[in-house]
Amino acid sequence: MISRRTALRTGGLALAGTALAASIPAVAEATEGPVTAARTFDTIVVGAGLAGLTAARELRKQGRQVLLLEARDRIGGRTWTDTFNGYEIERGGAWVDPRQPHVWRELSRYALPIIADAGPERVLMPTLTGFAEYDPVEAYTRQGELFTPFFEGSRDYFPSPYQPFTREDLLAPLDRLSLRDRLDQLAYAPQDEIRMTSTTALYGSPTKRGAMTQLAHWWALAGWNYEGFSGVNTYRMGNGTASLANAILADGKPQLVLNSPVASVTQVNGRVKVTTRTGVTYTAAEVIMAVPVNVWKNIAFSPALPTANRTATAQGYGVPRQKKLWLDLADPSDRFIAEAPEGYSITIMGRMNENAPVVAFSVNPALDVTSHAQVQAAVREIMPGATLRGYTVTNWEADEFSLGGPAFRQPFQLTKLHRAISRPLGQVKFCGDDLALGWGGYMDGAIESGLRAAGSPTLSPSPQAPNSRGLVGPAVSRRTYRSMIGL
Ligand SMILES: Cc1cc2nc3c(=O)[nH]c(=O)nc-3n(C[C@H](O)[C@H](O)[C@H](O)COP(=O)(O)OP(=O)(O)OC[C@H]3O[C@@H](n4cnc5c(N)ncnc54)[C@H](O)[C@@H]3O)c2cc1C
Repeated sequence: MISRRTALRTGGLALAGTALAASIPAVAEATEGPVTAARTFDTIVVGAGLAGLTAARELRKQGRQVLLLEARDRIGGRTWTDTFNGYEIERGGAWVDPRQPHVWRELSRYALPIIADAGPERVLMPTLTGFAEYDPVEAYTRQGELFTPFFEGSRDYFPSPYQPFTREDLLAPLDRLSLRDRLDQLAYAPQDEIRMTSTTALYGSPTKRGAMTQLAHWWALAGWNYEGFSGVNTYRMGNGTASLANAILADGKPQLVLNSPVASVTQVNGRVKVTTRTGVTYTAAEVIMAVPVNVWKNIAFSPALPTANRTATAQGYGVPRQKKLWLDLADPSDRFIAEAPEGYSITIMGRMNENAPVVAFSVNPALDVTSHAQVQAAVREIMPGATLRGYTVTNWEADEFSLGGPAFRQPFQLTKLHRAISRPLGQVKFCGDDLALGWGGYMDGAIESGLRAAGSPTLSPSPQAPNSRGLVGPAVSRRTYRSMIGL
C-alpha cells in the first residue's frame, strides 16, 4: 500500500489541504476505566476502531447513551500511530485520498492537516533475470498499460461503485475469479506478469486467494483508471491517524472502556447483554459489533450467528500473512520504490520521504520477521548492497483482535455473503471496513459502515471521470465478457 501516484507527477512534495488548519484535537473527554455506576445503555458499541468510533459519535449526536467497549489499551484498531527511531510511523492504515469521501470529510470536519509523500526518485521493477531500475514515470506508465486490461469491463459490472450490486447480472459470474484466474486469462508475457504480482500478492495475500472483483471494485471507485487506482495511497494525516481517532472520540464523547475484550453477546427479551472476558456484564437495547469479521468466531453469540456470518468469519475477510515493517536502512538512503514478484520475502518496499525509514510489506509466511538476519536477507534479495541497521514490524494476523490485515474479499464473498453478513441479527448490528459498500479494506470503508450502522447517511459520489491519458479500459465487448466468465 505504497503510492505510485507521485511518480506520475513532477511536483515532488505537495501539501494537500493547506487550507486546513494544522491542529491537534483536544484529548478525548471520554471516560476510561471500569464503568462503576450504570451498566445499562441505549447502545453498546464493541470495538473502538474508526468504524466503532464513528458509529458511537453518530449515536451520541442523536442523544443516545453510548458505551464503547475496546479490547486493547488504545483506540484506533488497525490504525496505530507510533514512533520508530524518532520518526512517526503508522503500523496499520496510513494513506487517505480525496477519492475517499468519508475519510476526507472527517479530515475536513476536524481541520486535520494532510501531507503528501514526496514519492520515489527511482523505481526497481523485477525482470526475468533480476531487477531493473527505472525512472518513476516510465515505470508506472508501463504499469498502467499492464493493469488496464485486467479491469476491462469494470465500468459495466461496477457502473455505480458505491452500489456494487447495480449490475449483479454481470458481476455474479465474475465473482468466482481470483486474481490468479484473471492473470491466467490474460496470459501476460512472463516479463510483464512478474511486474504485476507485487500488487496482486500484496492485496490478495496471496494472488490466488484474493477476488478479482475486489481489486476491480477499487479500480472503479478510483475512477476506472490507473492514475486513480495507483494514487490512493499518496496523502497522509500530518498528525497521524491517531489524530483522527482522537478527534472522533472527543466529538462523540461516548463512555469508553479500554482493556475490555468482549467474550459474549446474548439477546434476551429484546435486550442485549455484553459480557467481557473478566466477567463484567453491560446491557443495552442494541449493540453494534464494530470488530473485524475475522474475530467474530472468538465471540459467543446467542442466538448463534447465521450460517453466512459463520462462513465469513471462518473464511476470513481481513487478509492473512500481511506484515508491515519499518526498516532503518543505512544504504540506500535515497527515495525509491522496489516491487518484487510474488514469492519474494518482501513484496514491496520504499522510502517515500527524505531521511525517513523504509516502509515494507511482506506476505510471505516463510519470512521469520523476528529474525534480523532473515529480514536483512529479504531486503538483499531485492537490493544486494543494502544494510539493515534495525527494524520494527507489526504482524496483524497474529494479533488476536484483528486476526488479519485490511479486508480483501475472496471469490464469491461479494455476491454470496456480503449482504447477508451485513444484516442485523435481532438487536445486534455489524459494521467495519469488511462490510463497506465502497472502500472495503480502507479507513474510508470503516467510517462509511460506521455511519450506516448508526443510521446516518453515507456518501456515494460519482468517481472522477476517466482521464485523457488513454488509460481507461474500453467498455467490455460481449465476446470478451463471455471469455472472462468462461463461456
Ligand atoms: C498493514 C495495514 C495497512 C493499511 N493501509 C491502509 C491505508 O494506507 N489506507 C487506508 O485507508 N486503510 C489502510 N488499512 C486498512 C485500515 O486500517 C482499516 O480498514 C480500518 O482501520 C479498519 O477499521 P475498523 O474500525 O473497521 O476495524 P479495526 O480498526 O480493526 O477496529 C476494530 C476494533 O475492535 C476491537 N476488538 C476486536 N475484538 C474485540 C473484542 N472481542 N472486544 C472488544 N473489542 C474488540 C479491536 O481491538 C479494534 O480496536 C491498512 C490496514 C493494515 C492492517
